[in-house]
Amino acid sequence: MEKRDAHIHSPFCPHGTKDSFEEYIEQAIKKGFSSITFTEHAPLPSSFDDPAPLQDSAIKLEDVEPYIMEIKRLKEQYKNKITIKTGFEIDYIAGFEEETEEFLNKYGPHLDDSILSVHFLQCQHKWICIDYSPDTFAEAIRLTGGIDEVYQLYFDQVLKSIQAELGPFKPKRVGHITLAAKFKKKYPPFQSFSASIMEILREIKEKGYELDMNTAGLRKPLCREIYPNLDILKLAKQLEIPLVFGSDAHQAKELGADYPLIQDFI
Ligand SMILES: [Zn+2]
Ligand SMILES: [Zn+2]
Repeated sequence: MEKRDAHIHSPFCPHGTKDSFEEYIEQAIKKGFSSITFTEHAPLPSSFDDPAPLQDSAIKLEDVEPYIMEIKRLKEQYKNKITIKTGFEIDYIAGFEEETEEFLNKYGPHLDDSILSVHFLQCQHKWICIDYSPDTFAEAIRLTGGIDEVYQLYFDQVLKSIQAELGPFKPKRVGHITLAAKFKKKYPPFQSFSASIMEILREIKEKGYELDMNTAGLRKPLCREIYPNLDILKLAKQLEIPLVFGSDAHQAKELGADYPLIQDFI
């Protein structure tokens, strides 16, 4: 079986580390992976103002070609040792579908494997990057009226992302569908949202998409669980949705993190 980590960031990430591509790749080889995908945060639509305090959510448009070219070079350099795929983590931002599709139409032919994720929620008049910090999450709670409201909004956007028309290069994998739980130990929801989660899984199944089985949450002190958690992963497996491991590494040593915990789901 192919051992694969398909959600990895890179030295291009403005909020990640400067660990080199080679450090990530060497780590992958050392840990026995046969395939990896670099999924850097794609540039946000130019008319969308990055709400993260440091405006460092994604790479800049001028970095897209260097990023693609660098991976192309590495694919060749390491071709006898490991399969390297080019991808992006594309943000789904409601109302910005057209610009997102334009980006995908332009660069899609160079991409092997990408992820569609939700990080930004419109809370009343304001866009919030909900996974940025407990403080930004708290602001989302204030604006929407409660913790459950933020969760519901998040699941609604994930569902919309799956249904969105983003053209022929739309990513086939849905990223961290329970990212709203990143600060759950500080802001626990009251509901279980099982109906919304089931709706998301059914929609993924119907579209023939894959689910990002993302272990980054285990490394977050206020979360300590996989996105999505094991109960949801069991449901997804029952539905025969392809589950794809992603460490969501933002530094080389995180590559492959907690793979043993999820390998039964692959
Ligand atoms: Zn990131
Ligand atoms: Zn993400």
